Amino acid sequence: MAANLQHQTVLVTGASSGIGQAIAIAMGKAGANVIINYHEDDKAADDTLRQIEALGGTGLVVKADVSKEVEVIEMFNSAIKKFGTVDILVNNAGIQKDSKFVDMSLKDWQTVMDTNLTGQFLCAREAAREFCRRGLVGERSVAAGKIIFISSVHNIVPWAGHANYTASKGGETMLMKTMAQELAPQKIRVNSIAPGAIKTDINKKVWSDPQQAAELLRLIPYQRIGEPDDVAKVAAWLASDEADYITGTTIYVDGGMTLYPEFAHGG
Ligand code: NAD
Repeated sequence: MAANLQHQTVLVTGASSGIGQAIAIAMGKAGANVIINYHEDDKAADDTLRQIEALGGTGLVVKADVSKEVEVIEMFNSAIKKFGTVDILVNNAGIQKDSKFVDMSLKDWQTVMDTNLTGQFLCAREAAREFCRRGLVGERSVAAGKIIFISSVHNIVPWAGHANYTASKGGETMLMKTMAQELAPQKIRVNSIAPGAIKTDINKKVWSDPQQAAELLRLIPYQRIGEPDDVAKVAAWLASDEADYITGTTIYVDGGMTLYPEFAHGG
């Protein structure tokens, strides 16, 4: 059964591209009003909204840097002003600034932490505050609110040359679990989706080069690189009441990348 998010409002961060854009469209398709957060590319954010409207949905484009407290608070205020409340948050915005560990600058460490971890904290806190303020509205959902973190297989898989990114995703997992434990009595569900390799701008250099793409496939037992829609469909379902008893969990959408693929050939 397709996910039903009728009369609910979802805020998706980093929704002008890649996984965030696909999630915003999937949520719109499921009937939700969609707040399309973006950071830089206003044309691409408008394009996300146009695609949602073409499917008969509705939304609002809001520019905000998720790492800035004032901007996050203003974004939630705009969303609540337009649609009355927010029912679902998808914490998707994320970046990479890769380098060898010994060469990693404090600036690159901090920038990744600010966006991937502090940004997720700031958005999650505003969402949880709104869910607690509003409480349960039974005719919309059996939960008072849902938060989905877009994590990564690198919340558990070490990745040389990406220490800032892996540390941010690992930290995000404990943030998600602690929030899930603390907020469950308020009927707020908090979960993560951990994608493997999904074709987006963040890793275009790899999948657009045939040799690098072939090497990447060796790490994916299911033998295909993922599409943003693979993640989006899971997100729409996880946000729906169909998934009501799930909280504090990470769902891996990775074609088996976390199955130690090398062990298929020995060990
Ligand atoms: P992407 O680069 O297309 O998307 C990232 C989005 O985040 C962009 O729209 C960008 O503008 C936005 N963003 C960056 N900094 C921001 C800020 N400060 N405030 C607001 N928005 C900001 O790449 P993607 O692959 O779609 O990445 C989405 C999420 O998925 C990220 O959290 C990433 O870590 C995660 N992820 C991606 C993959 C993959 O293979 N593509 C795998 C695992 C996890």
